Amino acid sequence: MIRKLIRRILGTGSAAGNAVAPDIYEKSAHGILLDDVSNNAIRVTQTLQQAGFKAFIVGGAVRDLLLQHRPKDFDVATNATPEEVKRLFRRAFIIGRRFQIVHVMFGQDLIEVTTFRGASTDEAPKDAHGRVLRDNTFGEQHEDAERRDFTVNAMYYDPSREQVLDYHGGMKDIRSKTLRIIGVPEARYREDPVRMLRVVRFAAKLGFSIAAPTRSPIKVMAPLINNVPAARVFDEMLKLLMSGHAMACLQQLRKQGLHHGLLPLLDVVLEQPLGERFVALALNNTDQRVREGKTVSPGFLFASLLWHQVLERWEAYKAAGEAPIPALHLAADDVLDGQTEQLAIQRRIATDMRDIWAMQPRFERRVGKSPYKLLEHPRLRAGYDFLLLRCASGEIESELGEWWTDFMAADGPQREALLTRKPGETDKPAAKRRRRRSGRGRGRGGADGATEGSGEGGTE
Ligand code: ATP
Ligand code: MG
Repeated sequence: MIRKLIRRILGTGSAAGNAVAPDIYEKSAHGILLDDVSNNAIRVTQTLQQAGFKAFIVGGAVRDLLLQHRPKDFDVATNATPEEVKRLFRRAFIIGRRFQIVHVMFGQDLIEVTTFRGASTDEAPKDAHGRVLRDNTFGEQHEDAERRDFTVNAMYYDPSREQVLDYHGGMKDIRSKTLRIIGVPEARYREDPVRMLRVVRFAAKLGFSIAAPTRSPIKVMAPLINNVPAARVFDEMLKLLMSGHAMACLQQLRKQGLHHGLLPLLDVVLEQPLGERFVALALNNTDQRVREGKTVSPGFLFASLLWHQVLERWEAYKAAGEAPIPALHLAADDVLDGQTEQLAIQRRIATDMRDIWAMQPRFERRVGKSPYKLLEHPRLRAGYDFLLLRCASGEIESELGEWWTDFMAADGPQREALLTRKPGETDKPAAKRRRRRSGRGRGRGGADGATEGSGEGGTE
């Protein structure tokens, strides 16, 4: 191609990060079907183009379309300023985060429209470690491409012409399943250390390998994550854990030496066999739900990740003479406080986590009104799912989970029968249980005592 020749003569182009003219792929070469593209994203690009602006679908959506994955969302990049974009749409809102973007709404559907960013971050304000704090300069399309993180995330699709514009060899990297950062890796990680977490997420999610120069600085530069605001790290961790490939992501994080300090307590948990088993079960469960398109609760996820730490503290407080329920709350405080420095768990999510944890001893009270009260708990389902995970991991006997499964499905008389059933009795044969403390009368309170962390701890 002439363009390539010129670029070679001028010494520009390639993944080095200064390509001015893109490689252009026509439909026969890129294979994207318009049917797979969001109609709303097409509306946005068309409206902008009809008003005389450039507009493309960009980023993860193009990458996913090329890989024949269904994109999570569609982002649009344009040379119109946020104000100019806003004027063209009935429901459009300028969102002033780190970079100004426009949210264009169609019912529930949201298309994020970003103005091409300028290339240089030399002038942008930075923290003491070189992290870019604010940067809102606009620029040309090729500059915008240079500012994106990975070559496969820096392609632009024009639905009107059905062309893909590729400034950094993204198409080649898609084909060889390679993640390659644009520009000088060390400089790009320094500007924004979150890119190290992003590369891990994409590698796990897409099944791509990380090009050696992109991978090798990570081990040394990993501590830079410590300077990123904890709320942003949390957002990124949440994306990672909800990617449908959470287990693979965590394994990659460990492999790249990035897990230290991110989920500090998780370091310890993963070293205990029972804790590792519990986390693996929880994450595999989550991955499966995400892949089936079901919802996943972040509270449940983080409650699972940190449960074995809570268990350990809980035991310690009880051993020190605290009653079970207050001991559990103290343990929860310790664990949540220990996390917040690195990874600020949002208050709403922390509340869910506490609810799920606090429900656990209540499941052990299978007498009187307690189980009925628990049935009314707004988070019962999450607490129950959590209980089943504890059973499946071998932490507690499966009989307790089975009892609750029966109790929840039963009608009135069946429930009464279950309540009068002696703890440890089961319809099913082959239930291995200790019967030592069986035979307590109804209404006297107390858990069945066969499960770890039980005791006399009801909340009522
Ligand atoms: P996902 O499937 O998770 O949405 P994505 O690639 O679309 O993946 P987004 O976080 O939605 O990721 O970002 C959209 C695009 O913005 C990316 O594809 C990339 O081009 C650019 N981008 C996002 N975060 C960064 C970053 N930290 N540094 C540089 N470019 C970024
Ligand atoms: Mg995206």
